[in-house]
Amino acid sequence: MPENVVIIGSGPAAWTAAIYAARANLTPLVFQGNPYDERNNQNGTLPLGQLALTTEVENFPGWPTGDTREYLRTALSPDDTHFPYWVSANKSQPNHGIQGPELMALMRKQALNVGTRIESKDVVSVDLKKSPFMLTMHDGSTVETRTIILSTGARANYLGLPSEERFKNNGVSACAVCDGALPRFRNKPIVVVGAGDSACEEASYLSKFATKVYMVVRRDAMRASKIMADRARANPKIEIRWNSVVEEVLGEDKLGVTGVRLKNTAKGTSEEIECSGMFCAIGHTPNVGFLNNQVKLNEGGYILWTTVARSYTSVDGVFAAGDVADDYYRQAISAAGTGCMAALDAERWLGHHGFA
Ligand code: NDP
Repeated sequence: MPENVVIIGSGPAAWTAAIYAARANLTPLVFQGNPYDERNNQNGTLPLGQLALTTEVENFPGWPTGDTREYLRTALSPDDTHFPYWVSANKSQPNHGIQGPELMALMRKQALNVGTRIESKDVVSVDLKKSPFMLTMHDGSTVETRTIILSTGARANYLGLPSEERFKNNGVSACAVCDGALPRFRNKPIVVVGAGDSACEEASYLSKFATKVYMVVRRDAMRASKIMADRARANPKIEIRWNSVVEEVLGEDKLGVTGVRLKNTAKGTSEEIECSGMFCAIGHTPNVGFLNNQVKLNEGGYILWTTVARSYTSVDGVFAAGDVADDYYRQAISAAGTGCMAALDAERWLGHHGFA
């Protein structure tokens, strides 16, 4: 028998879809990805998604700052892979709201509790040409399913420097909204790399916390829309370094990032800038390779929602949720919202076709 609903992904969109599908008695099967594949580690595509790569999450409703240790202790079993170390070590976290990995572990737990089945496999290819659809996993196993919810997310692009890798989560970030307000970035200079709308937006946002924001732009022009670029230029706290690339992120293991070394490609000169962090805003890459162009994408390579305010894709019975189909909002809460929509859409599709 084919599955009713297969959900591919393991971020907030996937788990929200799973919670809704499971509560509709559809016994969803989630492919959360292979945690042992080094490529997933390198690409930032490990199970539990981008939130598992962040620290404090202050903007997900329901998790105010406060000591949630007791709640986590009872909600997660100690053998959970993301059981927070300070809970098991009985350490105090006085201002602790929720960390990204914990939020994801709790979402997964909630999905499990209501009857979701989870497999730690990467879906490497799909055949969407006939229904039921066929999925092939990294170990060669296959699964047939009547509906699919695609929620594989998008990965932030980084520069690819070894020094950048060393300080990820210790001053190097790709999400100002997620991390910008953390104490380490307050009242200190910050570097933003990129010159698109995201970079301008992140620089403007970070200028609320930082003493100064250096925008590192690799050409002598911005890619951003005029209005966003003008706003960044007019901000007295933002200083732009044109024709510049980051050669190395500087820092120490204990302190994290303390600066960056820039190279001016027009003049051939180098300079060191003191900063508490470096934010990469050089675009995202949606995780759609395994689809092999069987689902329509927009010009940015993200899955196209074919109907306004629905999670429908170009393939009947295939739905998309979260960042893999959203190059605009890219927030955990908006991903969760579209995950809910996709599960309801899949449920209705199954009902309409006489399967549920
Ligand atoms: P973009 O692709 O528009 O811009 C990426 C920027 O990063 C470019 O300036 C690019 O430089 C630079 N870049 C890429 N790779 C490197 C690298 N290796 N080293 C240094 N710089 C690099 O991505 P965005 O995320 O900014 O925007 C994505 C989409 O989302 C756009 O359509 C944008 O309009 C939209 N958006 C809209 C917002 C709004 O309206 N409020 C806010 C945020 C995004 P170069 O120009 O030289 O190629």
